[in-house]
Amino acid sequence: MGSHIFGRSTVGTLPVAAQGDGCYIIDKTGKRYFDGSGGAAVSCLGHSDPSVTAAIKEQLDRIAFAHTGFFTSDPAEELADILVEYAPEGIDRVYFVSGGSEAVEAAIKLARQYFLEIGQDRHRVIARRQSYHGNTLGALAAGGNEWRRRQFAPLLVETSHISPCYEYRGREQGESAFEFGQRVANELEAEIERLGPETVLAFIAEPVVGATAGAVPPVEGYFRRIREICDKYGILLILDEVMCGMGRTGTLFACEQEGISPDIVTVAKGLGAGYQPIGAMMCTAKIYDAIAAGSGFFQHGHTYMGHPVATAAAGAVVTAIIERGLLAKVEDRGARLRAELENAFGQHPHVGDIRGRGLFLGMEFVEDRATKAPFDPKRGIAKSLKKHAFEAGLICYPMGGTIDGARGDHVLLAPPFIIEDAQIDEVVGKLDTAMRAVF
Ligand code: PLP
Repeated sequence: MGSHIFGRSTVGTLPVAAQGDGCYIIDKTGKRYFDGSGGAAVSCLGHSDPSVTAAIKEQLDRIAFAHTGFFTSDPAEELADILVEYAPEGIDRVYFVSGGSEAVEAAIKLARQYFLEIGQDRHRVIARRQSYHGNTLGALAAGGNEWRRRQFAPLLVETSHISPCYEYRGREQGESAFEFGQRVANELEAEIERLGPETVLAFIAEPVVGATAGAVPPVEGYFRRIREICDKYGILLILDEVMCGMGRTGTLFACEQEGISPDIVTVAKGLGAGYQPIGAMMCTAKIYDAIAAGSGFFQHGHTYMGHPVATAAAGAVVTAIIERGLLAKVEDRGARLRAELENAFGQHPHVGDIRGRGLFLGMEFVEDRATKAPFDPKRGIAKSLKKHAFEAGLICYPMGGTIDGARGDHVLLAPPFIIEDAQIDEVVGKLDTAMRAVF
């Protein structure tokens, strides 16, 4: 009998994941796959961390679930304490949900309610073209990925999209990286003025862009200018760190490297590290206090928010990241992986750019390095790379997605923070096998 699962694709069958072993997933036939993208930057501790499974079991033995309308729980309180202790300056409250899209939905609704509580009826959100914020309707509306949005467009609230900070394609000749960053940041100000500042509630962006572009970091000064503009117009800055947060770039929050703090920040993926579905939306005391002093109730919520087992798992994950010195390891292994990618593919005729931060790295493929012309989408470069890499036993995250509105192909690498030197060689070797098959 065939499968009754209604999954991502209705075509073909998938291998059955049977066992986790550190950085590897083993299927039912015994084949080992190196998890080089952490399933889209999820698995930061690998697949068999005993401290996380112990925390889950211990909590299950106590109590699995108690509704947050009636109870809080020790693991949720403890996790919120740790997150606030290490959060960007000013972030003071944590709202737990079950994943990234939920965190973004909560962030946008919180921003809207905050302004209502202080007597301002703002409703517009500005985002960037090169962005992904989730697949639920509010988050999808904020995202700029045309391919994901197209067929649902009539259901999406109108959102403005400005240029991304995409140096590889956006920086003009004769322009310094800094000047480029200021120029694209200033598009935010122009858009606010165009819409009417009193109508705009938030600007949302990923500090390092993940799913739509393969680890695109901002240039120096970009986010400082964005922060200035938000402050000038009293607009909330929402940073979506669902993919790039929780240590992936070498700091617990990616925005630490930009020298700014957001008003709201979302995290997910690496927070539960795949052991449990969990996300969090975190905000400043200013926002929380406005609601506390106003209606006293954030009009939002999900049945499984603040789930005791999920927060217990995430508490163990964050503790492991901090106490095992994994942030330093991300920096060290990230630099090594990047150097190996440069060695192996830096001169490849179809690799236009190698970029990223920490263990969040991307390569962009081009037909022609000199003109940066992307491949014809019909070639299906990203899809083919994914297939050949998987056959070679490497899970990576290639995307034939949008490049600031146009087509393009790239691959994202986001291995577990526990990756060893020999495994870096393995990843690059398997990627090389796949690249040879594709090009
Ligand atoms: N935000 C960003 C930056 C993401 O990369 C993703 C997922 O890839 C999401 C939000 C949505 O998260 P989820 O798939 O957990 O709903």
